Amino acid sequence: MSTAHLYQDYQPGVPSTHPTVSFELYPPRAQARTSSVWTGINRLIDAAPDYVSVTFGAGGAKGDSRDRSVQVLMNVLDQRRKLPAVAHLTCLGSTRGDMAMIIRLLLRAGIRDFLALRGDPPSKDLPLSTEVETMTRAVDLVYLIREIEAEVLDPDRPEDRVSIAVAAYPASSGQARANDIAALLEKQRAGADYAITQVFYDPAQYDSMVRELTLAGGRLPLIPGIMPLNDLRRLEALERLSGVPVPQRIVDIHRNPDDSLRVWQSLKATIELIAGVLEAGAPGIHLYTFNRPRPVLDVVEYLRGGGYLNRYGSTGGTSRMPLPPDVDVELVGLALRRLTPGV
Ligand code: FAD
Repeated sequence: MSTAHLYQDYQPGVPSTHPTVSFELYPPRAQARTSSVWTGINRLIDAAPDYVSVTFGAGGAKGDSRDRSVQVLMNVLDQRRKLPAVAHLTCLGSTRGDMAMIIRLLLRAGIRDFLALRGDPPSKDLPLSTEVETMTRAVDLVYLIREIEAEVLDPDRPEDRVSIAVAAYPASSGQARANDIAALLEKQRAGADYAITQVFYDPAQYDSMVRELTLAGGRLPLIPGIMPLNDLRRLEALERLSGVPVPQRIVDIHRNPDDSLRVWQSLKATIELIAGVLEAGAPGIHLYTFNRPRPVLDVVEYLRGGGYLNRYGSTGGTSRMPLPPDVDVELVGLALRRLTPGV
C-alpha cells in the first residue's frame, strides 16, 4: 500500500487524530561508508516510522550518488516489505527519456511512492547543457510518473496505486510564497497527492501557508519537514543550502556553555515546533535524519510518550504531556547519557 492513503482523511486546519511520522534518509556519500550508514538507517527503521524517503542526487550530484540512493531504496524494500519507501526523483538536466527509464525501473523494482522534484543545478557556475532538451520543472515529472503508471500498472490493484509527493516552502514570503502556492496548485492538478516541506522554524509560517493554499482552492496535505534542532553546525549548513536563516533564539540555545541545558532546550524547541504544527492541523511530520538516529529517536520517543502521536501515545490520545519545563533533571541526564559519539 502506498503512502497516499495515509492522508485520505486530511482536512486543512483540523488537528489529525493519528499524525504520521516519517524519516528522510540519505545514501552514503561513498561506497566505503555503506555499512556505518546502514547501522544508522536500521536503527531508524526499527522505530517503526509510517514511511521513509530517500534523497536522490541532492545538491546536484548524479551518477554514483543516484546509484547509492537506489541501493538504499532496494535495501529498505528487501528488508521491510511493508514499509513504504518514497524515492526522491530530481529531473533538472535529465531528458524525459532518462527520467522515464528511471521511473520504469523503480516501478519494476516495487517502488510505488515518489517525491517529484526539480533538483538543484550541479553548480551555479556550470550552465546546464543546452544540446539536448532536458526537464526543468517538477510538475512535468508529476505528469510523467502518472503517464507511466497508467501505462504499466493495473489500475484495479490497490497495491499498484502510485503516490506522488512534491516540495513546499513555508519559510517563503511575498512573491516567492505566491509562486510556491501557484506551483502547488499546478502539481495538484498534475496528480500530486501531498507535499513535504523544506525546513522552517515557526509554526505560524506553516499555518499561513496551509490557509493560503486552501483559499486558493488547494487541498494537498502539507507534511512539515522537521529538522531536530540539536546541531547548530548542521542547521547553519542547511541555511547556506536553503537560504532559510537559523533564528537567533536557536543560535542562543547553542551558545549556552552548559551542556545539559543546551541539550534540553534544543529538544524543547524541537517539540514546541512540532506541537505547533500538529495544532495547526499537520497530518504528520517528516523528520530530516541525516542518518543519525539519536536526536531523531529522542524526539519520537518524547512525542509518543507524551501523547502527541495518538496512535502510539501511552496516554490513550486525548491528554498530552505538557511541554517540557525549562529544566527536568531526570530527562537532562537521559539526554546526556545519549550524547555518545557515533551514530
Ligand atoms: P519546481 O516545483 O519545479 O519549482 C522551481 C521554481 O519555480 C520554484 O521557485 C517555484 O516556486 C517556481 N514555480 C514552479 N511552478 C510555478 C508556477 N506554476 N507559478 C509560479 N512559479 C512556479 N533536491 C535534490 O537534488 N535531491 C533531493 O533528494 C531533494 N529532496 C528534497 C526534499 C524536500 C522535502 C524538499 C522541500 C526539497 C528537496 N530538494 C532536493 C530540493 C529541490 O530539488 C530544490 O528546492 C529545487 O530548487 C526546487 O525543486 P521543486 O521541486 O520545488 O521545483
